[in-house]
Amino acid sequence: MIIRGKAYLKEGVKEVSIHVEDGFIRDIRLNHSISGDEVYDYTGKGLLILPGMVDIHVHMRDFDYSYKEDFYTGTSAAAAGGVAVVVDMPNTKPRVNTLRMLWYRDCVASINSVVDYGLYYGVPSSPSELEGYEETAIGMKFFPEDLEAGEDLLSNVLRYNAEKDIFTVFHPEDPGFVKNGFRPPEAEVKAAVDIARLGVKYGFRAHLTHVSNIESIDAARKIDPSISSDTCPHYLTLSNELYRGSYYRVYPPLRPEDMRRNLLRYFASGHVEALTTDHAPHEAEEKLRETPWGGFPGLETALPILLTLCKKGVLTIDRVVEAYSRCPAKLIGFDKLLGDIEAGKLANFTVVDLDSSYKIDPSNFHSKAKHSPFEGWEVHGKVVATFVRGVPVYMDGEITAPRGYGENIMRLWR
Ligand SMILES: [Zn+2]
Repeated sequence: MIIRGKAYLKEGVKEVSIHVEDGFIRDIRLNHSISGDEVYDYTGKGLLILPGMVDIHVHMRDFDYSYKEDFYTGTSAAAAGGVAVVVDMPNTKPRVNTLRMLWYRDCVASINSVVDYGLYYGVPSSPSELEGYEETAIGMKFFPEDLEAGEDLLSNVLRYNAEKDIFTVFHPEDPGFVKNGFRPPEAEVKAAVDIARLGVKYGFRAHLTHVSNIESIDAARKIDPSISSDTCPHYLTLSNELYRGSYYRVYPPLRPEDMRRNLLRYFASGHVEALTTDHAPHEAEEKLRETPWGGFPGLETALPILLTLCKKGVLTIDRVVEAYSRCPAKLIGFDKLLGDIEAGKLANFTVVDLDSSYKIDPSNFHSKAKHSPFEGWEVHGKVVATFVRGVPVYMDGEITAPRGYGENIMRLWR
């Protein structure tokens, strides 16, 4: 297979022909001399071939929450959003924190996904449920209450993760600061400091996800300079001054305008290195209850929003590729296969049209959650096609790969 057009390479944007064989990039030529029977031609004004995006924080739901989302609709949303690999969170019902449940989750994911996926393991209630989990899961996710699991279990788990060099992701929010549903920024700062201390003590790879406040990063890095972090499009673009009400409920909450601006500055400069969506689908009705569920879908809006910020001169394409592909690939230990268009890596591509503008209309989402805080936003930059291992999984508005095409990336060579 050959894909041709303007491509984002490490050395810059170049007009190339990319030769793909068995799902891998074999060869990249600086002209269109390669010919073959299967050619995808994306030469044209505004079109750009990027490395496939990698989203290391999504909730595919499924199991008892399959009415909110399942692996088919969730990975379809990923494909439509230009995301070639998703990494799924374990706070499902039932939870994914036993080895049997992890294997079962992997089965459900592998027969339903249209893009490749990774799985996080939840903190188990017994150390006997640790042995070998890293063969199926790409990392572990700690929710705030998991840090109160008790000294014994916690040290067993963290020692295990350190010994096996497992990517360990934390939702930094100290429950002790949460009062009457109010979740102040200090809750995040305090938790980030505690997590950094644990990282230094046990030596595992600690990552702070969906950071909403730069003080958390600064405080954590004073203790552990190597701690990594990500944030989400909603913390970069929405503040609690303009976006109020139960629909906008998300954890951590949206912050005041000055905090949002500082976070965007940190993100633009790479101080917050990665971007995730925290794609968290719920039924629209569940968002408007007296006690609404937190979170909203994000996979189909993230890349267009980032590209719009590029158009406005707030971000660069370099930064977008770095934050939403290269850096997350490296964090999960898959930089040999993902994150760049380069011979030897997987042929994952996201083709975008930088000249195309449209209004975000959630009724067109592939996600089951047909709502968005970005409804009605005019975005500049549209996902035209997504390729996973050389196969188009999304083209011109349609899902083009069969259910079950997606594979657990742990089963791909690394
Ligand atoms: Zn989440």
